[in-house]
Amino acid sequence: MTGRIFDIQRFSIHDGPGIRTTVFLKGCPLRCKWCHNPEGIGPEPQLSVMAAKCVGCKACLAACKEGALALNGSQKVVIDRARCTSCGDCPPVCDPKALEMVGRTATVDEVMAPVLRDREYYRASGGGMTLSGGEPLFQPAFAGALLKAARAAGLHTAVETSGFAEWAALDQIRPDTDLFLYDYKETDPHLHQAFTGQPNAPILENLRKLHAAGARILLRCPMIPEFNARKEHLDGIARTAGELPRLIGVELLAYHRLGSSKLRRFGFPTRMPESVKSPDAEAVREWNAYLARKGVRLVNAPPGAVSKVAGP
Ligand code: SF4
Ligand code: SF4
Repeated sequence: MTGRIFDIQRFSIHDGPGIRTTVFLKGCPLRCKWCHNPEGIGPEPQLSVMAAKCVGCKACLAACKEGALALNGSQKVVIDRARCTSCGDCPPVCDPKALEMVGRTATVDEVMAPVLRDREYYRASGGGMTLSGGEPLFQPAFAGALLKAARAAGLHTAVETSGFAEWAALDQIRPDTDLFLYDYKETDPHLHQAFTGQPNAPILENLRKLHAAGARILLRCPMIPEFNARKEHLDGIARTAGELPRLIGVELLAYHRLGSSKLRRFGFPTRMPESVKSPDAEAVREWNAYLARKGVRLVNAPPGAVSKVAGP
C-alpha cells in the first residue's frame, strides 16, 4: 500500500494532545481562500519555486527538457507551469535550492518508521500520530492503513479533516481514530461555497453522523477577518456545538498570513486581499469570550477569555 505525502513533522504540539508526529497527505477537494498548506492541494508532486534564492546560474534551464524554465529581467528563475511535467530533473542541479519537489510516494512502512521513532515522547506526553493534509480522506485507503498501523503499535491517533468526504470513508477510519480535529469553516451555505468552493451541507451531515456514532470530536474553527470572523458565524458555531452534547469542545484558530508566500511558490494566485491581517490577541479573546457566554466549551482559549466571561 502506497500513498502520497508532502511532509512528516515530528514534535508537533498543535495537532492533538501531547507531542505528536503529523503526517501530511497530499490532495484536497476544497479550495479555501485562506489555505496555508497550498502544497497539499494537488494530489501529484509539485515544483516549489523560490525565486529569491535563485542566483541566475541557468543550470536548471539546461536540465529542463520541456523548456518550462527561464530567467526574468532580474536574472531570477520563472516557470511556465503549463509546460512543467513535475519530472523532478531540475531541483538536483540547483545548488541554492531555489527549486524543490514537494510530495512523494511512500509506503505505510516508510511513513511509520519515523513516526515510531518518537514512541517514548508520545508515551511521556500522551501524544501520538496525527494525519493532516491536504485532506487525509482524499486518500481514504492509505489514511486507513496508516491509522491501523499506528493503532497496532499502541499509538494515540488523530485525524485533522474538513469533513468533506464520503461518509463511508469517515466511517471506515472511525474505529482506528481516537480523535477527530474537525473543521467548521463557515455557517452560511452560500459563503461556505464562495470561500471553499464546496457546500457545507455534506460536512455538517458527516459531523452529525460521526457524533452519533460516538467518535471523539474537537470542532476547530479557523477565524478569518473580513471572511468568517463575524457574529453570525460565531452564533452558528455555538448552535452547532449545542446540538452535539458529546463534543469535546470548540477551538478557534486565528488566521495568519503565512500561507500567502507559499501560494506564490506553487504558482497559485494570492487570493487573500492584503487588507486581511492576522487578528490581534484582543480580538481572539473577544471571540472566545462571546462563545463562552453562550455556553460553548472552549479548548485552548487564550488567557483572559475566561475572566471576560466571568465579568459583567
Ligand atoms: S539552477 Fe537554481 S539558481 Fe540556477 S538559475 Fe535555476 S533556479 Fe536559479
Ligand atoms: S520539474 Fe521537470 S518539467 Fe518541471 S521545470 Fe523542472 S525539469 Fe522542467
